[in-house]
Amino acid sequence: MIPVTTFKDRTVALFGLGGSGVATALALQAGGARVLAWDDNADRVKEAVEHGIGTGDLREIDWTGIAALVLSPGVPLTHPEPHWAARLAQGAGVEIIGDIELFCRERARIAPDSPFVAITGTNGKSTTTALVTHLLREAGWDVQMGGNIGTAILSLEPPAPSRVHVIECSSFQVDLAPSLAPSIGVLLNVSPDHLDRHGTMENYVAIKERLIARAALAVIGADDEHSRDIARRRAGPVVQVSLEAVTPPGMLARGTLLEWFDSDRRITADLDRIGSLRGRHNAQNAAAAAAVALALGLSDEAIQSGMRSFPGLPHRMEEVGRRGATLFINDSKATNADSTEKALASFDHILWILGGKAKEGGITSLRPYFDKIRQAYLIGAATEEFAATLEGSVPFTRAGTLDRAVELASRDAGSGEAVVLLSPACASYDQFPNFEVRGNRFRDLVRALPGIDAIQGGS
Ligand code: ADP
Repeated sequence: MIPVTTFKDRTVALFGLGGSGVATALALQAGGARVLAWDDNADRVKEAVEHGIGTGDLREIDWTGIAALVLSPGVPLTHPEPHWAARLAQGAGVEIIGDIELFCRERARIAPDSPFVAITGTNGKSTTTALVTHLLREAGWDVQMGGNIGTAILSLEPPAPSRVHVIECSSFQVDLAPSLAPSIGVLLNVSPDHLDRHGTMENYVAIKERLIARAALAVIGADDEHSRDIARRRAGPVVQVSLEAVTPPGMLARGTLLEWFDSDRRITADLDRIGSLRGRHNAQNAAAAAAVALALGLSDEAIQSGMRSFPGLPHRMEEVGRRGATLFINDSKATNADSTEKALASFDHILWILGGKAKEGGITSLRPYFDKIRQAYLIGAATEEFAATLEGSVPFTRAGTLDRAVELASRDAGSGEAVVLLSPACASYDQFPNFEVRGNRFRDLVRALPGIDAIQGGS
């Protein structure tokens, strides 16, 4: 845990008692602050009391004595409208911050020069965060990984000169971290997302830009207009990352090759046959991770060897099994057509398991990939909608459930050259609590098939 000492002997209001809220409250108390924590869900308040966290209904407290409101990133700060707790704090002139801001202030106090890599982007944040962590760990570094990827930042070990923090930041977290100033800020890409929570595209871009604005070094993806503009506007040092072209210094992903361009030009790594980093989207993530690793002093050899041993993240084009020439891939995280497109682009001879609760637009945007699909297996509520889209282009079976789909796809694949791909292009809620449960079920079903070599991956 990182005790937060910057609010010692002061009273801090905290709203949102999910995992990171509880960790934050405990870290504040460990550093000597008085905490008044609350949540709209009474069970969460009860659990907080059991953890020894000070609680209080923030509608009934005297805000004049409150030093700050710490807000959970899931709670609306501005759009569609400020949550009532944010409104009360704003009315009382109390600053509103998040756990990453508390980390930044603590770091500034105890280890201002400690390496701190902050990573954001519309897509690829978790993969890049996990990959940077893996590269550094394999090279012998003391690495702490957390933030949006899972572990609450204040549950990690404290900053120290020889310890690097690799932190995934959502735009909501950046919005609540006004003094964010990492040693390396990574902005992978920007495309419209979460506009319900950020109001306008301009506002969303501005929040993403804040992650790199005060970074000592910014690593910026140069393959979309918004990110290019952000790189252009920045006064400090920038390393570009691109699949198309870079202005040195930069990391170019050309096919599977990662080429570093600076005073010299050289191949840093080759992603060929690295199953966990398949696809152009992963080439962008890998190029960004390699740029970070180079900046921190890793050699090309260390980067290449770390890429090779990267296990990948669960549910993102995760290899879960193999039988002869048939590969079984769990891409349950693909809850919309854009994500599924990445998987369809990465494989051939596809036996495609898809369906669930469809998103607007369905799978019509995936037509250009239909000739790569040998057979589709439809599951869940989207069955008839997707059947109508596939009709006449792709042979399909109404499998109904994931269990049946795996059974049928496995039978059809035999052990020939094929990829049995769960990439649903749908939310899971009609049949599963979330995409993780759906992906875990797929993995279990595959591993129970006769003759399967299980592939141990994920983290
Ligand atoms: P995030 O943490 O930003 O949600 P992840 O690394 O978890 O991103 O990847 C989630 C999905 O987003 C992947 O399964 C893939 O479909 C897509 N994706 C990953 N990286 C990129 C990228 N660099 N550009 C575009 N899409 C990507």
